[in-house]
Amino acid sequence: MINKISYGYKLILFSLPVFITTALIIYTISYTAFVVYAVSVFLISLIIFLITRRDFIRLSDIFQDTSYKLNESAEETEDYEEKIQTVIDITDRFTEIRKNFSHNKDIDSILRSTQDILSKLHNELNTAKVFKVNRNEFLGNVAHEMRTPIFAIQLSLETLVDGAIHDDNVNMDFLNKAFNQSNRLKNLVDDLINISRLEAGMKLSKRYFSINGLITETINELTGIAKKKHLNVCFEPVIKDSTLVFGDSERIKQVLINLIDNSVKHTPERGNIKLATRKEDKNVFISIEDTGAGIPEEDLPRIFERFYRVDKNRSRDMGGSGLGLSIVKHILELHGTSITVESVYGKGTKFEFSLPS
Ligand code: ADP
Repeated sequence: MINKISYGYKLILFSLPVFITTALIIYTISYTAFVVYAVSVFLISLIIFLITRRDFIRLSDIFQDTSYKLNESAEETEDYEEKIQTVIDITDRFTEIRKNFSHNKDIDSILRSTQDILSKLHNELNTAKVFKVNRNEFLGNVAHEMRTPIFAIQLSLETLVDGAIHDDNVNMDFLNKAFNQSNRLKNLVDDLINISRLEAGMKLSKRYFSINGLITETINELTGIAKKKHLNVCFEPVIKDSTLVFGDSERIKQVLINLIDNSVKHTPERGNIKLATRKEDKNVFISIEDTGAGIPEEDLPRIFERFYRVDKNRSRDMGGSGLGLSIVKHILELHGTSITVESVYGKGTKFEFSLPS
C-alpha cells in the first residue's frame, strides 16, 4: 500500500502539467469539449482515489488491530503466545504484499521491525515461563513450610482436647509444643512478608551511622541465645567507632541478626563467633566468622536461594524458615553491594559484606 501511495504521488506530480496543458488547449478549441474533458478527469481521479483509499483503510486496519493487541498488557505466557501469533500474522501479510512490490524499502523496513518485535516477544515469553515456574515452586515451598508447624499445633491441641488437658504431667508439654510451633509459624510469615517487600523494591531510608555502634547493639541483644549454648561472641573493630557507613541501619541490623543467628544455630556448644570491621579504600568490610558445622563446597552457591537448606530436617528443626540468607542477599543488593561466603565443612564459616563509608 505504501508503495501504491508513493507511486500515486509520482503519478500526480508528472501528470498534472500534462492535464493542465491539455485542458488549456481544449479550452481554446471548444468550451463544451473542455467541460467534458474536465468532468472525465475529475471522475477518473475520484475512482482512483476511492480504490486507493479502500486499500489504505484496509492496511491501517491491520496496523490498528496489531497495535491494539500488542498494547494489551501480558501477564500470562498465553498472552505472549497470542501476541507472537499476531506479529506472525502481520509478517505473513506483509510478506505477501512484498511479492507485488519487491523493491519497496518501506515494506522491507516494516518486515525488519516485525522481526525485532518477534525476537523481543520470544525473550519476554521465556522470562514469563521462568517466572511462572519460580512462582509455582515458591508457592509449593510456602505450603510445605507451613504445613509442618500447623500440623504439629493441630496434633498438640487435639491431644489436649482428647483429655491430656487434665493430665498435669503432660499438659504443659503439649501447650509449650503448640506455643513453639506457633512462634515458628509467625517467624515464617514475618520472613515471607519481608521477602515480598524486598522483592517489590522496598524503599530504603539511608543515612550515615556508626557501624561499630550497630554491631555492638545487635550483639548485646543476641547474647541471651548465645549464652544458652555457652558460645563466645567477640567483636574486633579495626576501624574507629566514629567511622560512619551509608545505608539503612534498620535493614543492616536485620542482616546482622540473620547472620549471627545462623552462626549461633550452626555452631556447637562453647564454639566461637567473631565479628570484625575493617576499612579498604572507601568501603567498610563487616565479617561474621564462626567455628561451626561449615557448609559443603557444593552447597555454597545455593545457600542464598529461597528455602535452600544444607541439612533439610536439621535446619528446619532449628526453627529456621530457610529464608534468612535470601533476605540478607536482597537487603545488600538494595544497598548496591553483595555478600561473600567462605566455609570449610566441619570447621566453620565466614560471611563478609561491605558498605560505603
Ligand atoms: P535457615 O532458616 O535454614 O537458617 P538460611 O537461609 O538462613 O535458612 O540459611 C540457609 C542454609 O545455609 C541453612 O539451612 C544452613 O544449612 C546454611 N547455613 C547458613 N549459615 C550457616 C552457618 N553459619 N554455618 C553453617 N551453615 C550455615
